[in-house]
Amino acid sequence: MKAMNDFDVIVIGGGPAGCYAALTAAKKGLRVAVFEEHGAIGWPRHDPGWLMDCDFANSIISAVGKAVPWSRVKEYRVCHSESGDLIEKSTLGGYLIRRDLLEKEIAAQAVRAGAELHIKTRVERLVRKEGRVVGVETNSNVIPRAEGQIFICADGIRSAGNGFAVAEGLCDPGEVRPGLSYLLADADVSAGIIEHFLSSEPLLNYRCFFTHRQDACFLGIPSYAAFNELKKREDNVVSRKVKNAYPLEVCGYTRVSSAKYGKYFRNMFMHNLIFVGDASGGSGNIHGMIQGHFAGIVAASAIKENDVSEERLSEYQNLVLSTLGKAPFFWFSAREDFGSFNNWFHEFEEATKGIKAIELDYSK
Ligand SMILES: Cc1cc2nc3c(=O)[nH]c(=O)nc-3n(C[C@H](O)[C@H](O)[C@H](O)COP(=O)(O)OP(=O)(O)OC[C@H]3O[C@@H](n4cnc5c(N)ncnc54)[C@H](O)[C@@H]3O)c2cc1C
Repeated sequence: MKAMNDFDVIVIGGGPAGCYAALTAAKKGLRVAVFEEHGAIGWPRHDPGWLMDCDFANSIISAVGKAVPWSRVKEYRVCHSESGDLIEKSTLGGYLIRRDLLEKEIAAQAVRAGAELHIKTRVERLVRKEGRVVGVETNSNVIPRAEGQIFICADGIRSAGNGFAVAEGLCDPGEVRPGLSYLLADADVSAGIIEHFLSSEPLLNYRCFFTHRQDACFLGIPSYAAFNELKKREDNVVSRKVKNAYPLEVCGYTRVSSAKYGKYFRNMFMHNLIFVGDASGGSGNIHGMIQGHFAGIVAASAIKENDVSEERLSEYQNLVLSTLGKAPFFWFSAREDFGSFNNWFHEFEEATKGIKAIELDYSK
């Protein structure tokens, strides 16, 4: 019989990767706790909710059914910012989903499967005994300390800024770059089409319109001044698209310069710590959720067989590298690394064939 605050698995961070790890581990019968520093799951929402096409994304969509609004992306277009000329297009556009609601749904299902979720609970420190992590200390009066056997670090991109990935020596500290993510109304965009603009000019480069519905889309941009400058210009297609647009919602986001965007750190585990999602140097919602899923599977078999050795947990990294590792979330260098976005989408679909999401439980 386990004491209170004594878990099989402790998950640090309730983003998509952490929530999915908790769901899989709890469904497999483990005693799981998730600690999330914010007061809500899914918020702040910096992410437009684009899910790359693959079996996992298809099964997530059919599992959530009508619980979370989503739309199919008919086409992913890549164009020149200045002329608007098409560079390439792909019908492997995936889905656009309300990612904040998806995250809440995954977290709710994890709780339903028995996981404990503690919001407004920041993990401040890992507690060690003879080198191994045995527990965490938090900033919460409700649960200031908890013990566990396996620790899943899912603390997101900041892990590589000043979080656990840096503290554990998985990577050098990266420079944190803040930016804004707008949900825009009255933009010149078409439902079901993602338009992605490239240019040699930084203001116009990698401007991507994630269109959730007619005239409304997400756009990421470094600052409000940059958005205003973009609106004023007349010499390019991106500016024309946002000429009459106004923000319905504004969120902040951070990116960290550590390593290549989406490139996994050399190690994604250490002793009894497993790193998932952005905290492992990866990126992408689906990539993170699949990593969480793998971490949950490996943690469950390791605990059930009473072997939580580093060697045993290395199975997790092997699973990641032999699948996702063939087509990581190299959004900013997809054309350089794969020749085209379309090639990247195909490689990703192929590399993750057969990996399915857990069926969610809507029986009551
Ligand atoms: C502007 C922008 C747009 C993007 N668009 C897309 C997209 O359309 N599609 C896509 O696939 N990917 C996209 N990405 C990438 C995607 O958002 C990330 O890869 C994804 O959020 C990673 O999920 P995660 O669970 O690893 O981390 P996160 O979502 O960052 O979650 C980490 C969680 O850990 C919590 N946390 C951190 N430290 C602690 C601590 N010490 N104690 C407790 N809690 C802690 C944080 O509060 C956070 O909730 C985008 C990224 C950005 C910045």
